[in-house]
Amino acid sequence: MMRIAACFMQGHNLWLVFLALSMCVLGSFTFVRLSRRTFTEHGPARFYWALLAATTGGMVYWSTHFIAMLGYDPGTRVTFDATLTIASALISILGAYLGLLVAMHRNRWIACVIGGTILGLSMAAMHSVGMLAYRVGGDVEWLSGWIALSVGISILLFIVAIRLIKTEGTRAHALRPVALLTVAVFGLHFVGMAGFVVTPAVGGATGVVGEPFAVMAVVIALAALLIMVIGISAHFVERQGQLARADLHHLALHDDLTKIVNRRGFGNAVAKHCRMARAGKASFALILIDLDRFKPVNDTLGHRTGDEVLRRVAERIGAAVRPGDLIARVGGDEFAVVAPGIDDTEDADALAARIGELLRRPYVIDGNVAETGASIGVALAPVNADDPDRLIQCADIALYAVKKGGRGNHSLFDAELGERMERRRAIAADLRRACLRDSFTLVYQPITHAATGRIIGAEALLRWHCEERGEMAPSEFIPIAEELGLISRIGESVLNRACCDAMAWDSDITLSVNLSPVQLLDPRLPQTVARALAHAGLDPSRLELEITETALIENHEIAMRILNRISAIGVRIALDDFGCGYSSLSYLHRFPIDRIKIDQSFIQSLPDDVQSMSIVKSLIQLGSSLEMSVTAEGIETRAQRDFMTAQGCDCLQGYLICHPLDCDAFVDLLRTDEGRTAA
Ligand code: C2E
Ligand code: MG
Ligand code: MG
Repeated sequence: MMRIAACFMQGHNLWLVFLALSMCVLGSFTFVRLSRRTFTEHGPARFYWALLAATTGGMVYWSTHFIAMLGYDPGTRVTFDATLTIASALISILGAYLGLLVAMHRNRWIACVIGGTILGLSMAAMHSVGMLAYRVGGDVEWLSGWIALSVGISILLFIVAIRLIKTEGTRAHALRPVALLTVAVFGLHFVGMAGFVVTPAVGGATGVVGEPFAVMAVVIALAALLIMVIGISAHFVERQGQLARADLHHLALHDDLTKIVNRRGFGNAVAKHCRMARAGKASFALILIDLDRFKPVNDTLGHRTGDEVLRRVAERIGAAVRPGDLIARVGGDEFAVVAPGIDDTEDADALAARIGELLRRPYVIDGNVAETGASIGVALAPVNADDPDRLIQCADIALYAVKKGGRGNHSLFDAELGERMERRRAIAADLRRACLRDSFTLVYQPITHAATGRIIGAEALLRWHCEERGEMAPSEFIPIAEELGLISRIGESVLNRACCDAMAWDSDITLSVNLSPVQLLDPRLPQTVARALAHAGLDPSRLELEITETALIENHEIAMRILNRISAIGVRIALDDFGCGYSSLSYLHRFPIDRIKIDQSFIQSLPDDVQSMSIVKSLIQLGSSLEMSVTAEGIETRAQRDFMTAQGCDCLQGYLICHPLDCDAFVDLLRTDEGRTAA
């Protein structure tokens, strides 16, 4: 120790030692930064970072050594061997590069030990070759013990420093490897110098450590500084780019409004969890949440309130799930949750119920109260599916079932639901094809005058013979056509065809055509009706359009306007399936309704069921007091016919009277209709 201190204090120019130390600290800082990138980058980039780190570190450590050497005064004349001096710099750089390449290997400990050893050894080699280049006028003695100690210190400290750089990435820990490297390089030099003994030659020139060496030291320090600046600048410039890229990446995967993951991020997360589920490593629940009644909130309270509701929805979902669960906004008012670790229906059910419960609570925003609810569909991976698309589809099916069932609830996917939906999907595909080819037909079910038995009209009923599935019931395919947005097109074609067909009937026979509630929202409907009549040449008074109550409830303002316009043309309106829906009597006088058709469910339990009897009686009375005609549908027995006739029902329709017929058969029937011939 004394020896080192003596060498340090007496043999050196302290200004130059200080300069060397400063270079060493700065160099270590740069080296730590750059070699950290070597360990954190992927692909070919890390080799470039290693090269930059090695060039910067190697050069700076060499300059540390060289400046310190320039500051050493052996008490005799000094010269430097240029070749060896350059060789020592190259050893430093190449050794550092090799050491970093080895340390880069994935294996943590061994890579650090071997890489650190190479670094430590190459620094020692740089030092030794540098000392050999140092020519003094006198005898030189190398004390092997000190030399060995300096090499040992260098290797050990480099191993520990490399290990720290590789494993500890935070800013705070940068100080420790910097300190270790500084001690390693400085220690190597001064312990080594303690083992370097010069006995000046008798009568030789005296020491020359003076201005020329000081100038040289400063020039080398400046050169090393330049290299460092380039190295560290490269690091910071790239770091900014990296941060910007990270920002962009974050933006690309997150929703700006709610700050939770967006659809893309959600897709990635589902794919990742599905991969784990496939590998048998994880199970999870996928929850799709669709807000109910969000649009009215947006429309009535404004978009700012709507946005706030969405933010709070995200917060509430966050409060319902566990910390590790992923919440995403996957659409305008659609959210999703990936809840790892849930593998049974009970837990999934409880979680969905919790979310639903929280989302049902009202939101108070700027003094306004916004109320929404949620429809929730859940699927489990890998139980229901382990493929991302299929799993999302399962949750979607469950969600769809909730929406169909009146919303505001949650449902778990199950196989039976899947089959039902599969059939529905297949029908939808067939229906699109059928619509393109217009492969529908119409049949007509006669309607008779109850008192006389005369045919007074017919109801057009749609038929679809599906190539794959055979005859399809309208009650099954019409709702699907409504959902697919095909019903207006189908309805228009029904209307056109039925009007043309009716031209072949006697001029006092009316035509009834069913309208879907979806058609009733189409403002072009009055024109469509007028066009169909004009095209066929059918008198408007012969057409009756059958609508259901649901159409009136959901959008009564729009429906009322459209019905008034149709009624103004002279076309009559019948309320179909009356009695089975909401049956609000207020519709009857507010809408231009000419006829009510008593739903067949009441007729079917006649004449034994007392309740149905009294309902039917009062419906007939209601019709007559509102001056509306009344038709009874679904007459299957004579008893039903007689009862309805006795009650004063105007018209009858049902299998007893006649099954639906194709147009030609109906025309034939009209010719042979007894009641008519008699008339
Ligand atoms: P709806 O308008 O109430 O038509 C009466 C339905 O009852 C028809 O069924 C008819 O075949 C059936 N029916 C007639 N008499 C009897 C009977 O005595 N007993 C029984 N059990 N049933 C009888 P269909 O043809 O299957 O039509 C079902 C529903 O599909 C129709 O009910 C109507 O709501 C709808 N629909 C039919 N064609 C069209 C159409 O062209 N457009 C629209 N939008 N809906 C249509
Ligand atoms: Mg009908
Ligand atoms: Mg009906």
